[in-house]
Amino acid sequence: MKDQPSAVSRRDFLATTSAALLVSQAPAAAAATPKLALQGGEKAVKTPVKRARRWGDLERERLNAMLEQDSLLYWKGPQTALALERFRKIHPFKWAHTCSSGTAALHIAVLAAGIGPGDEVITSPITDIGTVIGVIYQHGVPVFADLGASTYNLDPADVERRITPRTKAIIAVHLCGNPCDLRALKAIADKHQLILIEDCCQAWGAKYRGQPIGSVGHIACWSLQDTKHITCGDGGVVASSDERFGPLLQKCGDKGADRGKGGGFQMFATNYRMSEPQAAVLAAQLERLEGFAGARARLGRLLTEKISGIPGILPHQVHPEDRCVYWFYFMRFKEAAFRCNRADFVKALAAEGVVCSAGYIAVPLHREPVFQKHGFFAGRWPVKEMGLTAMDFTKHHTPEVEAILQNGIRFVIHEGMTEAYIDGVAEAVRKVAAHYAV
Ligand SMILES: *Cc1c(COP(=O)(O)O)cnc(C)c1O
Repeated sequence: MKDQPSAVSRRDFLATTSAALLVSQAPAAAAATPKLALQGGEKAVKTPVKRARRWGDLERERLNAMLEQDSLLYWKGPQTALALERFRKIHPFKWAHTCSSGTAALHIAVLAAGIGPGDEVITSPITDIGTVIGVIYQHGVPVFADLGASTYNLDPADVERRITPRTKAIIAVHLCGNPCDLRALKAIADKHQLILIEDCCQAWGAKYRGQPIGSVGHIACWSLQDTKHITCGDGGVVASSDERFGPLLQKCGDKGADRGKGGGFQMFATNYRMSEPQAAVLAAQLERLEGFAGARARLGRLLTEKISGIPGILPHQVHPEDRCVYWFYFMRFKEAAFRCNRADFVKALAAEGVVCSAGYIAVPLHREPVFQKHGFFAGRWPVKEMGLTAMDFTKHHTPEVEAILQNGIRFVIHEGMTEAYIDGVAEAVRKVAAHYAV
C-alpha cells in the first residue's frame, strides 16, 4: 500500500516519455511543479527541526526547594500552593486542585457533577480515552456526538440531537487546543439544564474569545502528561468557580476525605492526589506556559495562512477571535482532488522534511474493542444489565468523525520550531499537492 507503484510509474511516464510534449504544450505548468524530494528533488524544508528544550533551571530551583521540606504530601505543601497560585493567575477560578492525571481530573469532575448510574454524558469520539474513563467508572454512559468538519470539535447541532431525558452533562474536548463553540454548547447546556465540563487537556494557554480556556463551562480539566504543552511527568488540574461543584473537587480527588474540616468520609472517591515533587515541576512549568502556547499559536496560524486556498487541502479551522494552541496541527486531505492516497501524500511530505503523520487515533473511541464489547467491569456492564441504558456502541454512528480520521493529516507543531520551518512545511504542501493534483 505504501509503495504504490502506479503513482511512481505515472510520474516516470510524465518525466520521460512525454517530457518533450509537456515542455512544448504546457511549459508554465511544468515549471510550476518542482521535482519531489521523494524522487530526488530538493527538499522544501531547508531548516531541520531542533528538539524543544522543555525544562531546566526553573524546575531545578523548585525541586531543590522541595527537597528541603519535611513532607511531600500535597495538603499544605508549599509547591502545590505555589503551583495553584500561578495557575490561578492565568485562570482565576474560585476552586482549583492538582491531581494525578487528566483522566483523574475528568473523573473528579464527573464525580463532583453527580454523574451516576445510567446518566448520559455527551462528548467527542476523537479524544484520549481518559475523557470518558471517569464517566464509565461512575456507571454513566458516554454518548459520542459528531464533530465539525475542520474544527474537529463537537457539532452543537448533533449534540442537541443526542440529548435524552437521561442526559446530565456535556464534556467539550478542545481538540488540539482549538476552543470549542462554547457559546452554543453553553446555551444548549443551560436550555436542558446540563453540566458543561471542559476537557482542556490539549488546550493549555488557549483562549476562547479572548478569555482563558475553561472559563465558560461549570468545571474545567487539564492534563500534565508528558506530551502535553506543559508537564510534570504525569498530573492534572481540575477547577471550578461554581458553588455546587467547586467545594467537592478536593474531596473527589482525595478518597472523599475533607482535610479542611472535621474529617470523616462523607463521600466515596479514590486517591488521585498529586505529590509535591510533581507540583514543584508544575510550578516551574507554569512560568513557561505563555512562551510555549504563544509560539505554537503563532506557528499554527502562520501555517494556516500559507496553505489556505490550495485545492483539496482544508486547513485547521479556528475561530478568528480564538487562540488555538496547536497541540498538533490537523488538516484534511480530499482524496478526490489528488492522484494519490493519503499515505502517499504523507510519504511525499515526510520526504520534503515535514514532521507529519496520517490520522490521529486509529478509530473513533466507540469503535475500540472495549466499547464494542461493553466489557468495562470484568467483562460486564452493570448499567446495561440493570436496564439503565440501551446503549449499543456497535450501532453508534458519527460519519464526519470517520471521515476526519480517514483523511486527516497531522503536523507536529512545537515551540522549538521556527517560522522558516513552517514556511518549508507550507511550501512542501503546495509542492506535493500540485504534483498529485488531478
Ligand atoms: C491527555 C488527554 C487526556 C488524559 O490525560 P492523562 O493525563 O493522560 O490522563 C484526556 N483528554 C484529552 C483530550 C487528552 O489529550
